[in-house]
Amino acid sequence: MNAEIIAVGTELLMGETVDTNSSYLADELAKIGVELQWATKVGDHPGRLEEAIERAWRRSDITITTGGLGPTSDDLTRESIAAVMGEEMEVQKDLLAHLTSQFESRGVKMPATNIKQATLIPSAEVIPNPMGTAPGWWVEKDGHAIAAMPGPPREITHMWDNQVGPRLRSLNPEIAIVTRTLKTFGITEGGLDEMLSPLFQSENPNLGIYSKQDGIHLRAIASASTETEAQALIEPMEREIRRVAGHAIWGEDDDTPVSAALDALSGRDLTLAVAEGFTGGLLSSTLLESSSASSILAGSIVITGGDSDRLILDTSLDNPDSPRPYDASNLALAVRDKIGADVGLAMTPLVSEETEDSGPVGTTHIAIASGGEVFVRSGHYPTRRLRIRARAVTHALLELAKCLETGAGGHESRWG
Ligand code: AMP
Ligand code: MG
Repeated sequence: MNAEIIAVGTELLMGETVDTNSSYLADELAKIGVELQWATKVGDHPGRLEEAIERAWRRSDITITTGGLGPTSDDLTRESIAAVMGEEMEVQKDLLAHLTSQFESRGVKMPATNIKQATLIPSAEVIPNPMGTAPGWWVEKDGHAIAAMPGPPREITHMWDNQVGPRLRSLNPEIAIVTRTLKTFGITEGGLDEMLSPLFQSENPNLGIYSKQDGIHLRAIASASTETEAQALIEPMEREIRRVAGHAIWGEDDDTPVSAALDALSGRDLTLAVAEGFTGGLLSSTLLESSSASSILAGSIVITGGDSDRLILDTSLDNPDSPRPYDASNLALAVRDKIGADVGLAMTPLVSEETEDSGPVGTTHIAIASGGEVFVRSGHYPTRRLRIRARAVTHALLELAKCLETGAGGHESRWG
């Protein structure tokens, strides 16, 4: 079964909105073994949208559209599908009643323009959208299908998970797909590619390599007639990846640097205190995105470059020999003791003389005080200044997880 995506919206062609829906859908289609053959972006223009839908209908088994289901006159996906099918749009009483009540429950009178969101054509059925006012359309005819979905990312992901994904899976029942993502840190994409080159020749399972904010991901996808068979295809590949690159693997599938760090702490019943120079609180706020962090993160201090570090280090201005913020290990010990946590983590900057244009500007020292030891790692991230902070945070979280798990830090500090 093959598919085509049409992302609808002039804002996508103007560079105002990044077409994240197509990437999301491409990823989801791969997971269920539907081959994506085309992905098109088209503006809110009736003729060109119709042309794109007509061509997709002809050449692809499944067409998925995103966007253009809003109430305004430039939202034309329904009209264009109706034109390609040669069918008339008709208002559905039950849909209209539902839509009207959605507005009433918010205490708003429904504008007349929204009525078109309550229409269908004879070969379409409605795809419910509890996240918004625009229901989707599922059109099936002559061995082809169209799933018309809304534009807002949170609406499309919900509709995919609950409606469109399961439907497509049931159209493709003979195929079971198993995916396995292994997440690495500290080896460059090129380096990994070289180490694993024989594996990239394999068609099933197929191995992909992706550079992400939290390192390089390796994703194996296997298809077979049963899940057990697909699993059996993936296993030897996973074993080989772990044999060759296991030292750099920090997580799999849905693991994140935050979950890795928090799991390592909570699994040992440890609390954490943080002193952040350079990252301005980003590490703490990243941790706190997880609801379990509040009971683990005992406290955090942001050091802004003045003399705030001296308060934690209990040192005085008139002693030039006393520890300074680049001494990350002292800070890690001090913040742990001051806050009264089990583990202290400090990040301190060492900003070079070089300017942003002439090369790397930041080096970050990460120190972790755990038990009777302090582990120190330095990170240098060849990227733009704004992203350095995010990378330094990722590095610190993974370093923390690794320290607690192996009793020693270990990720290489350089990023590719
Ligand atoms: P629409 O359904 O066309 O009215 O789109 C509603 C909103 O969803 C747009 O204003 C965008 O912010 C967002 N959106 C539409 N298409 C996409 C897309 N392909 N990727 C990400 N966001 C989108
Ligand atoms: Mg639009």
